[in-house]
This record gives sequence, structure tokens and C-alpha cells, in this order.
Amino acid sequence: MKRKQIVVLALIVLALVAYFRLGLGEYLSLAALKAQQAALAEYQQQHPWQLAGLYFAAYVVVTALSLPGAALLTLAGGALFGLVWGSVIVSFASSLGATLAFLVARFLLRDWLLGRFGERLRAVDEGIRRDGAFYLFTLRLIPLFPFFLVNLLLGLTAMRVRTFYSVSQLGMLAGTLVYVNAGTQLARVDSLADIVSPTLLASFALLGIFPLVARRLVDAVKAHKVYAGWTKPRRFDRNLIVIGGGSAGLVTAYIAAAVRAKVGLVEQHRMGGDCLNTGCVPSKALIRSARLLAQIARARTFGIATAEARCDFAEVMERVQAIIRQVAPHDSVERYRALGVDVVEGAARIVSPWQVEITRRDGTQQSLRTRSIVVAAGARPVVPELPGIDRIAYLTSDTVWQLRQLPRRLLILGGGPIGSELAQAFSRLGAQVTLVERGARLLAREDPEVSALVAQRFRAEGVQLRLEHEAKSFIVEQGEQMLIAEHAGATVRLPFDALLVALGRRANLDGYGLAELGIASGATLEVNEFLQTRYPNIYAAGDVAGPFQFTHTAAHQAWYASVNALFAPWRRFRVDYSVIPWATFIEPEVARVGINEQEAQARGIAYEVTRYDLDDLDRAIADGAAEGFIKVLTVPGKDRILGVTIVGEHAGELIAEYVLAMKNGIGLNRILATIHIYPTLAEANKYVAGVWKKAHAPATVLRWVERWHAWRLRGRGG
Ligand SMILES: Cc1cc2nc3c(=O)[nH]c(=O)nc-3n(C[C@H](O)[C@H](O)[C@H](O)COP(=O)(O)OP(=O)(O)OC[C@H]3O[C@@H](n4cnc5c(N)ncnc54)[C@H](O)[C@@H]3O)c2cc1C
Repeated sequence: MKRKQIVVLALIVLALVAYFRLGLGEYLSLAALKAQQAALAEYQQQHPWQLAGLYFAAYVVVTALSLPGAALLTLAGGALFGLVWGSVIVSFASSLGATLAFLVARFLLRDWLLGRFGERLRAVDEGIRRDGAFYLFTLRLIPLFPFFLVNLLLGLTAMRVRTFYSVSQLGMLAGTLVYVNAGTQLARVDSLADIVSPTLLASFALLGIFPLVARRLVDAVKAHKVYAGWTKPRRFDRNLIVIGGGSAGLVTAYIAAAVRAKVGLVEQHRMGGDCLNTGCVPSKALIRSARLLAQIARARTFGIATAEARCDFAEVMERVQAIIRQVAPHDSVERYRALGVDVVEGAARIVSPWQVEITRRDGTQQSLRTRSIVVAAGARPVVPELPGIDRIAYLTSDTVWQLRQLPRRLLILGGGPIGSELAQAFSRLGAQVTLVERGARLLAREDPEVSALVAQRFRAEGVQLRLEHEAKSFIVEQGEQMLIAEHAGATVRLPFDALLVALGRRANLDGYGLAELGIASGATLEVNEFLQTRYPNIYAAGDVAGPFQFTHTAAHQAWYASVNALFAPWRRFRVDYSVIPWATFIEPEVARVGINEQEAQARGIAYEVTRYDLDDLDRAIADGAAEGFIKVLTVPGKDRILGVTIVGEHAGELIAEYVLAMKNGIGLNRILATIHIYPTLAEANKYVAGVWKKAHAPATVLRWVERWHAWRLRGRGG
């Protein structure tokens, strides 16, 4: 706790002690008020402003300190100032006092709570941002929940002070009027419970629920307005049409067919989308060949005297295609038709919120009416508009798979996951790779030590890293292609034979009716937490929607998009991004789930780090893979996992245990108590839990146990 917080806390404690020690509460009883009514009225005759001021201040203090007696004070307001002035004074004093209590709770506890329950509190904040004003209004009107608790609890959230004050004032108005009015007839009030009848309470409750109902109505009206101008068909051909047969679209269609919906899937290019044809599958196949070469190159370190390998690049690339062909049946038209999906090979275009026009491969057209649409149109590589790039036959992750001749000098733009994976693979296959990155390090989303380890390995393998190099233009000089880059204020010329652009991927948003429908999009398609676009029956999933660009997140979103598209408004689910893992398939492999240190720091989340280095692990040593580490971030003092980074052999497999743990609230203690097979890499997960446990061993208890053992050594204790 900071000094200022301690001072505020001390003042509050002092005030509370004074209140109770001086017996001030006795003055806040109905009997005391009635007994003093005449005297107070006389004082008011002589000093009306003073009394109003004193009353206001007393009210503010009582509510700010969450003392009992606010209801009584409200009655007194009516008795002293009448209905109008009494209501005005009470309304402002109670709102001000409540806001002070709200601010004090925030000042004393919010930072601490953020540190301890950062992720969960953020989820609460998100709910408060969305619906907080409505809930507060309801709580103010339905006095089932004590007001002082409302003040304190909302102070712990991110609700804006202005919102809290204004909604509180409005919400408390009805109750204030009732109590102040009762105060004007003080002589007839025998107990505070008499003031509000069950009927009055029920009316308040109805009034309280009204804003939430109104909100739902407003949403319905808004949705209705979006559809104005469009004619909804009376009948439909499909329950759902999915645009795009990549990871997101396939899973969406699969789920829809599994729940017996009539679902259409439209794919204009190749079933399987990026992942199968130009993304995960070919890149991992290429990486496997490159890895084998790298292993053969270090055969001597395994005691093998001679092992030579000559890379036939064209063969490697043919193998990549063979792997694609082998996996393709999983995503094929035949498979999906057999599952009950109506697959159409053609280009889809949304022409109304319920109508999709399809231009089939053979040029024929089909128009289908559908209740819902899921847009799963994916993304494509970003190509920067740099001067001269139009003169270069650059490659992207879409086209690199067509290469059959290994470029001698390959220049890769971009040090993210795709750029890094392909840089290492091509280098291992024999190309001289130069990787140009504007930032100071590779894999900038990971912690700096991860980037450093990867950079060290890349350099050792001969990849030329050009960090902090900003690409400016391309030139061709005497037949030689060159990148002109800026580095530390100087111009650098980097010659190359082939250029691979790996600067990220942009959502496919054009050419299929989104703009005509006015569906908002920036870098990706704008969707709400249910994955709905502004048309509630049009959803989006996968790379087109972001915020992640992975096959597994596309599939994860697909479940929500499909279920929501088919079952809303009866049943719908908010997409859950709380535990998202990913891996970059370089060597050493980098995998992560949850937050890392740089994210925790940026978001002000308190954490503890536990680290286990893989050079200590028996299996890693035996495999000649004793490199890397596991880093676990936990809540300070607890074993609850906030995030894990693994760098090392099979990191992408090892992380699965933490994904399961985080998803199911399993902490390091339970991982430690789980048997892991010896000797496996997975044992590292147990060992890191052991490191955590050792650091949190109960020192005092252990000291006593030590003494007990010593005592037993002396033959005591039976
Ligand atoms: C080199 C590379 C390596 C990668 N490695 C990994 C990895 O290891 N792990 C991982 O999780 N992710 C990886 N990814 C990312 C992964 O491939 C994508 O996140 C995933 O493919 C996204 O799936 P999607 O369904 O959203 O889009 P896509 O797979 O792009 O599918 C969209 C489909 O929609 C079709 N389409 C578009 N418009 C229309 C239209 N109007 N009518 C009909 N059809 C249309 C397109 O033809 C396309 O087939 C990698 C990506 C690349 C480029």
C-alpha cells in the first residue's frame, strides 16, 4: 500500500472509531429525530442556511463512510425542508456521498485487485463498460442490495465517475422522493419499514428492470433499422451459408451439418484455404525437410562419423505438394458433402442480408436465400507500396510454394512468425538468407529473451539478420535487384536474387458485397462478442475477423459463429479468448499461452516468474536438445497460471499441458502432483512446477519439522 493510501485508510478508521466511540449513531434513530424535531425546527427558523449546510455535510459524511443512518437522514430531510427542498438536498448529498465512497474504494483497492485478479477484473470491466450503467440504475431502484455495497463494489470496477454519479442520482430519485415525503409526515411514521410497502417495492423493481428491457428493445429496433430497405424472404433455401472453405468455414459448416441444419459452403479457390494449401501444412512440411538437413549436418555430435546430405530443392517442394495432397481429403468437397454440407465450388457474393449469389466455376449462377451467413473469407499477404516493388517478381506465402529452384540469395522482409519460419527453413535448405526487420528484434510479441535466443540461433546457422532496418525502396542496378533500407540514419543496399514479403496478412474484405451492405471493416471485419456484424444474422470467423490469425483460433471462432448463427436469439455465446495458445515452428520452437512478461508489464498485471532451463532435463540432454527454457507467470503468492512461454524442442506439444491447466483452473501444485513419464520432455512441466514449489516452501513449518526430526534422533517420541 502506498503512503497516501495508508493516510486515507487511517483517516477513515479514525472517523469510524470516533463515530462509534462518541455514540453518534444514537442521534440517527427515529425516536431521537422525533424528540429533536421541534428543536431542529426552531434552529431552522433562525439559521435556515446553516442548518441546510450542516445537514448536507452530515449526509455526505454518513454515505461516504458507509455508516448506517442514511434512510433516517432522508426522513429528516423531509421533516426539516419539506418535499421539494428536502428532495433536492438529499438527492445531491446522497449522490455526492455515494461517489466519495466509490472513489475511496477505488483509491484503496483497485490497483491491488488489478494486480491480483487482472484478467478476471478486466472481464468484469468489459461487462461494466457495456452494461454497467443499466445494472447500476437497476440496483439503485431495487433496494435489495445495500447501497453502501453498491458504492464500494462499483468503485473497484472501471466505471467512469461521471456515469456512477449521474446514474446514481437518477436511480435513487424515486426512493428519495418516497422517504422525503414520508419525512414531511414524520409524526405518523412509526418505523422505517412502514415507509415502503411491498407494492411500492415491486413497482420500483419493475422500474429498475425497465432500462434493461428497454435496452433489449433498443437493440431489437436497431437491428430492425439495419434491415430497413431490405425485403426478408418468406422462405429460405438454407439455414446457413458459409463463405470460404478454409479452417473457419470448414468447421462452421461441419458443426452446422452435425446439428442437422441445411448448410451451404461456398469456396472459390481451393478447399482447405490457406492452412492446407499455402500456410500451416506446406510450411511445416518444408520445415521438416530443412530440419532433417540440419540434423544430418550435426551428425558428428551424435557420434556418426559420416553423414552427408545433398538437398534436391525441387524434390523437397514436390514433397510439400505431396503432403498437401495427402492431407487434402480431410478438407475435401467429397468429405463435406458426405457430412451433409452442400458444397458449391464458386465465388459467393452477398446481395442482401439473406441472399447469396454464387458464380460457379463453370460460369453458371445460383442464388440462395439463407437465414444466416458466416463470412470466413480469410486473409492475404500484405504487400507494402514501396517504390520499385512493382519491378520485382516478389514472392509471398501464397506463391513461394511454386518455387522449384532454390534462390541463391533470398531476402525476406519481416521478422514475424512466417518470416522467421521460412528464413530458417530456406537457410537450412542452402539459400543465403537475409532477414530484414524494422523493429529491434524478431518475434516482437514474445519476451526479449525469446527473441534474443532465436536471433542467436539464426545467426549461428548463417541467417543474416538486419534488425532495425526500414525498407525504403527497390532498385535494379545492372541486372541486380536490391533493397534500399535505412539503418541508424544510413542507407544500406541489400542485393538479392529472390524476395519474399512476409509483413503480415490482411483480411479479405473486398469484392463480395460487404461494402454494398455497409458492413464496417478496418484491418478486419468488425464483429461483436457474438461474432455478429452490424447485421445480426451475418457473422464472421477466422482471419477475416481476427484478432488472431491461427487455424486453431479460426476453428474456435467457427464453433461460436455456427452455433450463434443457428440458435440466436434463443441461445447464443460470447466468444471466449481467455486461453489462446500458439507456436512458431522454428528451432528452437517457441510456444506460448496466456500472457508473457512484456504483456503483464504493459497491462499492469502483477506476476511472479518461475523458470526452468532445459539444459537440466535428462531427455533434452540425451536428445542433444538441451537448449531453451520454460517460463511460467503466476499470480503472486499463488500457483494460478497467468501465462507460459516455452522455448525448446517440441515446445508446441509441451504447452498443451498448460493450455489444459489454464482452461480448467489447474495450478502448478496439481501439475507437480501429476506423474510424468521418465524420461520425457514433458517432465520439464513438472520440474518448473517443482521450482515454483521450492520457492514457496513454508520456511517456518520446515524449521519446526527440522527440530522435530532432531528431537526424534535423540530417541524421543516413541
Ligand atoms: C505461411 C503460413 C504459415 C502458417 N502457419 C500456421 C501454423 O503453423 N499454425 C496456425 O495455427 N496457423 C498458421 N497459419 C495461419 C493459418 O493458415 C490461418 O490462420 C488460417 O488458414 C485461417 O483460416 P480462415 O478459414 O480464416 O481463412 P483461409 O484459410 O484463408 O480461408 C478462406 C477461404 O475463403 C475463400 N473465399 C474468400 N472469398 C470468397 C468468396 N467470395 N467466395 C467463396 N470463397 C471465398 C478463399 O478462397 C479461402 O479458401 C499460417 C499461415 C501462413 C500464411
